[in-house]
Amino acid sequence: MAKVQNRSTKNDPVLEALPLACADEAAAVAFMELQRWGEHPACPRCGSLNVYQMRDSKTGERQADHRWRCREKHPSQQFTVRTGTVFEDSRVELRHWCFAFWRASTSKKGVSALELHRQTGLSYKTCLFMLHRIRFAMADSASGMLSGDVEVDETYVGGKPRHKGVSKRGRGTKKQCVFAMVERGGKVKTRPVANVTAKTLKQVIRENVHPSSALYTDENSAYTGIGSEFEGGHQTTCHSKREYVRGDVHSNTIEGFFSIVKRGINGIYHAVSKEHLHRYMSEYEFRYNNRELDDGDRTAAAIKASEGKRLMYREPRQQA
Ligand SMILES: [Zn+2]
Repeated sequence: MAKVQNRSTKNDPVLEALPLACADEAAAVAFMELQRWGEHPACPRCGSLNVYQMRDSKTGERQADHRWRCREKHPSQQFTVRTGTVFEDSRVELRHWCFAFWRASTSKKGVSALELHRQTGLSYKTCLFMLHRIRFAMADSASGMLSGDVEVDETYVGGKPRHKGVSKRGRGTKKQCVFAMVERGGKVKTRPVANVTAKTLKQVIRENVHPSSALYTDENSAYTGIGSEFEGGHQTTCHSKREYVRGDVHSNTIEGFFSIVKRGINGIYHAVSKEHLHRYMSEYEFRYNNRELDDGDRTAAAIKASEGKRLMYREPRQQA
């Protein structure tokens, strides 16, 4: 019988390099530099390729802090692979960042801070901080407007698990609303919404779906009338009559995305607070929008996306 080769690791330089990069700091630095700059390291401040590695003048060894210097004349000519990324002001070793990026990019349902804490030995708070930064790097993975056949739907996630026999769900519970739009065969976008009124949902659709598209939704009355704004019109399925598919009229694509989100948020993250929900959604969007990539390339894409993101909040200080 022919030996089955694991497609995801064969001939994948990123996946081959990751185990060492997660164990050894010098390897981690070299790995991150390669993902960020390829063969041509560039100054993060001016973009110049006229840069060099700083080395110990006696031993010729690379400096312990892995600095580079730019030959262009501007203030602060020294930089590292961290400069201008979401991990710039972090004191956490890069090998742990490599590991966190790897896990967050490749776990279908997501990776929790608790799990990362157990696997790295870093504090829970530090792991939570790292994962939020990675989610921030993953944000906005679908640029431009969605077009073609676009399915739109809202769902509710998180909150306490439902008790046996109690079927309260959706509006009026502690669950959070996730509003999503997905192009069939293309990308997904989610947006946090303050409410699910027709005014709010239609506005979000207008901002994210090209007018040439055809819209597919369920029969929620909030969507009524929106078809006149789209060349492809608006088709609905009537879930209350147990109707889920009528030819092309279905929301199977968005249901598929929501089922991954729900299994992840309910199974891995449990309770997700309102102010953090959009961060978790960035992570699900990123993995979905890069689903065609293999695990190594998806990890590399996340690291690459960590460049040039404005830093929003600080690493916790005192927790060990
Ligand atoms: Zn420079």
